[in-house]
Amino acid sequence: MQRTKISKLLEATELDVDIHVKGWVRTKRGNKHVAFIALNDGSSIHSIQIVADPNTIGEDLLKGVSTGASISVFGKLVASQGSGQKVEITAERIEVIGVADPEKYPLQPKKHSLEFLREIAHLRPRTNTFGAIFRIRHAMSYAVHKFFNDKGFYYWHNPFVTGSDAEGAGEMFRVTTLDPTNPPLTEDGKVDYSQDFFGKETNLTVSGQLEGELGALALGEIYTFGPTFRAENSNTTRHLSEFWMIEPEMAFYDLTDNMDLAEEFLQFLCQYALDHCADDLAFLEKRLIDEDKVKPQAERSPMTLTDKLKFVVENPFERLTYTEAIQILSNSKPNKKGKFQFPVEGWGTDLQSEHERYLVEKHFKKPVILTDYPKDIKAFYMRMNEDGNTVGAMDILFPGIGEIVGGSQREERLEVLTSRMAEMGIPEEDMDWYLDTRRFGTAPHSGFGLGFERLMIFVTGLSNIRDVIPFPRTPGSAAF
Ligand code: ATP
Ligand code: MG
Ligand code: MG
Ligand code: MG
Repeated sequence: MQRTKISKLLEATELDVDIHVKGWVRTKRGNKHVAFIALNDGSSIHSIQIVADPNTIGEDLLKGVSTGASISVFGKLVASQGSGQKVEITAERIEVIGVADPEKYPLQPKKHSLEFLREIAHLRPRTNTFGAIFRIRHAMSYAVHKFFNDKGFYYWHNPFVTGSDAEGAGEMFRVTTLDPTNPPLTEDGKVDYSQDFFGKETNLTVSGQLEGELGALALGEIYTFGPTFRAENSNTTRHLSEFWMIEPEMAFYDLTDNMDLAEEFLQFLCQYALDHCADDLAFLEKRLIDEDKVKPQAERSPMTLTDKLKFVVENPFERLTYTEAIQILSNSKPNKKGKFQFPVEGWGTDLQSEHERYLVEKHFKKPVILTDYPKDIKAFYMRMNEDGNTVGAMDILFPGIGEIVGGSQREERLEVLTSRMAEMGIPEEDMDWYLDTRRFGTAPHSGFGLGFERLMIFVTGLSNIRDVIPFPRTPGSAAF
């Protein structure tokens, strides 16, 4: 008999049928006469209760049924006597598949801190919290594909190993087959990459945007969704060295079309979570409320997790220019000590995440889209505005996060693009493949990048990006 997934059993209407389940023991309690085992197989936040009579099952065997052990249970699905769930299983036979020595198994039945669980990241998927997070991660991945597929976008696969540095999107991880201690050198003493595997200097992708543009200018509307690598030399709760990014790129879209799409996309994802992850969200919400209870009133979150998701779905995002944002920040109220909360360097500097969060959390109290940034703090490919000082960029800022999306209308005019490249010292020869899209059949187009883990922080309500990806990679911490 094949095992039935616990998620299916919990919805079952037919009782007194033979059942076979397998999973991992969460808890076991009881006495000499009866044992109650909570069994979880990862298919649901809920465990199913197994009721076992030591006389039938065997007292010795039940000793091996401890927290963390994997077991196989044959029995009958019956109406539950207790108040918790509608059904439970009366065990007829139990097999212990894999024991988990209670003296050594680190996940005992109590609430562990996220910090502790980060240290045992290889085992944390076995906890209810991380089960919920990773099921939501799956649902959100599916929702990304569903959103674009329903709109007729094509899933476009960029290279991971590339010669493109996306013009400074982030610090790169180099990929080379040359001996780092003794690389071949050219006559002028530089590393001779013509002898490297691909015949040129290569790195792991920091952004698939430039390659994505090639797709959009041929297929119309594409999106990428894959791992992205940045040797971010900072230890923040918002940056990973390996993260997943979703990058749609659309021909014949201007900046407003781009913003409209990004806003609709984020609202769709939040609604999808509400519709499809209710049990897991309810579990995380309860955990967050419990954690909030120990904080002083002022630090407690005024909204629940589901309130926040609904708020995003129901309220249009605030749209304003970078210049307007700088004015707001410069006039931001002094704190009690009579000092300004943030040193805003003034027009022309990039916003720090504390500035972004101030705009979202204190000033507008809703998600914000900032547009038209100074050209000098943005990449060469963003479309020059008529003022000659700003470009058609847009960043979306979310509560608790700051920047969640970065995008722009791309410069489609060859002359403007090449003069911008010259200004920034980017040699045309390096970008010949990219410039060809402007030389032949150029067209207005736009796109953006959404950091998948930043979305996951928002949807799960967690505050550290290390807790929303199975294998967090940060400087000095690759545990696997
Ligand atoms: P930030 O200012 O937060 O460093 P960025 O401007 O460098 O972000 P972009 O190059 O605009 O990031 O990338 C697009 C999106 O990818 C960002 O809006 C963010 O959601 C996400 N992102 C960027 N860097 C990281 C990272 N190191 N870890 C996780 N997500 C990231
Ligand atoms: Mg960055
Ligand atoms: Mg940024
Ligand atoms: Mg950005």
